[in-house]
Amino acid sequence: MTNLVSKWNYPTTIRFGAGRIAELPEVLRDTGIANPLFVTDPGLAKLPVVASTLKLLADAGVAHGVFSDVKPNPVESNLYAGVEVFKAGGHDGVIAFGGGSALDLGKLIAFQAHQSRPVWDFEDIGDWWARADASRIAPIVAVPTTAGTGSEVGRAGVLTHEASHTKKVIFHPKMMPAIVIADPELTAGMPPFITAGTGMDALAHCLEAYCAPGYHPMADGIALEGVRLVFENLPKAFADGSDLTARAHMMSAAAMGATAFQKGLGAIHSLSHPIGALYDTHHGMTNAVFMPYVLAFNRSAIEPRIERLAAYCGIAGGFDGFAEAVLNLRAELGVPHTLPAFIDGFAPDQARKELIADMAIVDPTAGGNPIKLTRDGALSLLTDAIEGN
Ligand code: NAD
Repeated sequence: MTNLVSKWNYPTTIRFGAGRIAELPEVLRDTGIANPLFVTDPGLAKLPVVASTLKLLADAGVAHGVFSDVKPNPVESNLYAGVEVFKAGGHDGVIAFGGGSALDLGKLIAFQAHQSRPVWDFEDIGDWWARADASRIAPIVAVPTTAGTGSEVGRAGVLTHEASHTKKVIFHPKMMPAIVIADPELTAGMPPFITAGTGMDALAHCLEAYCAPGYHPMADGIALEGVRLVFENLPKAFADGSDLTARAHMMSAAAMGATAFQKGLGAIHSLSHPIGALYDTHHGMTNAVFMPYVLAFNRSAIEPRIERLAAYCGIAGGFDGFAEAVLNLRAELGVPHTLPAFIDGFAPDQARKELIADMAIVDPTAGGNPIKLTRDGALSLLTDAIEGN
């Protein structure tokens, strides 16, 4: 008998539906937060969606502070600046409001504010998280405004270590939002590039989780339906940002992807992380560039699984049909086919390529790839993504 042993986590409460942002004051009361720090990014801070949410708080008489010094691909200095504001304002919880960058940084502020060790002591390595004082993690309400990362249902935050140009995953089982408000109306203003990139991130999460080895039939089932939702709805949300039905399904697919990827991710992410850290590219769009090359690379290990996935999604032609559907979806969304088409002036020399490959094989996601990701394998995938093979 195979080893049917595993560990499954599905604890998040999600208030899902258009207009439910109006419940934010009630959600804060339920969570016991009296003076939240509202964490968002500078681009969103200028948009009506933030003004109207802050008005909701003001109208309900909720004292709050605002912190928006959050880079896309947030860095350590963003975190410690946020921690200072959190402490100075006497805040007792965080509203993490935005895409993955603001959600991750909001979660990390709530986690790190009252820890005595530096944040890098809590990287997602073994049980490093056990060094944290879990009793001092502030409660978090998460409000996603993109539909991709699924950070709202996750127990980790991604933070770039600037000195080494490395994206690190900071993990704690209690760095989990107490409540999520998933309101698709908040995503309607996303521009097409962000709609495409974040939507492809959700697809990458579902696809890599589904293909990762290990016994996790719940994650497999969630990922399967997540992939179907993306194929059906991402082109609609991209073509018409105001299509709230498509936006709602994409918001579900994003949360499903991050729920499923507790099973594991793979080489799409292992390569995307160093590229994102070294070239500051959008995470989901970088995943989208790598997706067809990694799919082909893993073929010998995943063909029967992909055949089942294709059949479930109503895509004819088995593995080849699915690979073609991925290429067609990318083309429809304007995803660049190669890294040089994606990143201006991208022409790494051999030493740089080797650095990227070395970073990829030690990335925490590499272990989930269905075929062991060696240095040669990572280099060959990088060459494929440069040449468009
Ligand atoms: P993002 O949060 O970086 O946002 C990208 C841009 O979109 C920003 O300029 C932002 O202002 C804008 N934006 C966001 N919502 C908008 C809206 N509704 N209308 C108009 N503009 C809007 O992008 P993202 O893809 O959501 O997040 C990427 C980050 O998430 C990366 O740092 C990545 O490493 C991280 N990530 C984390 C996890 C996790 O599990 N914690 C998973 C995947 C990715």
